[in-house]
Amino acid sequence: MAERAGWRMQAACAKKAADQFYGDSARQMKVAQAICADCPVTRDCLLSTLVFERGRSYYSRFGVAGGLTPAQRCAPIQVATSLTAMRVDRPRIVVELLALPVSDDKVIPGLQAIGLSDEEITLLLAERAIADV
Ligand code: SF4
Repeated sequence: MAERAGWRMQAACAKKAADQFYGDSARQMKVAQAICADCPVTRDCLLSTLVFERGRSYYSRFGVAGGLTPAQRCAPIQVATSLTAMRVDRPRIVVELLALPVSDDKVIPGLQAIGLSDEEITLLLAERAIADV
């Protein structure tokens, strides 16, 4: 399922100061995450952000988005858990997990968290390795 067009119009952060979402301190991130918790478009925001950040390292990801900090958006289990809770379909979650800037040993727990078998995971990681060549 793709992001819905026009979702930004409903964003809970639309009228908040941008620095509330781009602060580095734990306190600033908690304040931003509290706003995200009441946002009606968290799912669209997280999916859109993950797509925007594809190919970027952890160090090139900034701000709280979709309720997750930059570190959380690079953590396969966190991404898998959040997208599952948002009722994102499993094929889309697989795409997002495989696009994260983490090694196979770190992405495997995320793939296991959405219920993939060892055989399915082995195949997916082999395909990712071929695509990266
Ligand atoms: S989930 Fe958070 S960052 Fe995303 S639109 Fe909503 S309030 Fe803004």
